[in-house]
Amino acid sequence: MADNLDFDSPGIKKCIKALKDIDLELAYLAVLTCEGLKPLSRWEKPLDENGLKLLQQLGLLTKQITRTVKIGKLITETIFSRTPAYIHLYEQRFANTPINKSPQTQRFEGFLFGYPACCVDQYIKRPYTPNNLLHEDQKILFHWSCKDCHITPLLLSAYKIIHNRLNDY
Ligand SMILES: [Zn+2]
Repeated sequence: MADNLDFDSPGIKKCIKALKDIDLELAYLAVLTCEGLKPLSRWEKPLDENGLKLLQQLGLLTKQITRTVKIGKLITETIFSRTPAYIHLYEQRFANTPINKSPQTQRFEGFLFGYPACCVDQYIKRPYTPNNLLHEDQKILFHWSCKDCHITPLLLSAYKIIHNRLNDY
């Protein structure tokens, strides 16, 4: 796999390390997105200016999106992508809208987040249907693989390289 990030650069290393200090999963999502495995990622926990700056230093575009939840409370999501069009698509569809988990939303999110459509469809029909993945493999993915998926095993090898690499920082 040809890297997008220069993992040997001290600046990049420092940046990934700092993201890991904030949250391991945030660092993992950031690198997956930098490497193009995820067109866009969403971080649902708070992220301050420093966190946003670290993502930007990795070459990611960031945007904070306001959503509403049922009781009228506002929440802030952070999205990041290498591509302006994906940021725009997300913002256009979800900014200032209530959080919802409709099949339409799940399909669109799956498209933006780089999930195989077969897995999203299976998840909508019946979440967490047993698949043939090893627990430790399923655990490093952000989607639930459908049974006998033809795409997930291909994604998995790329995800694994990044997941292992993060342990070195
Ligand atoms: Zn699948």
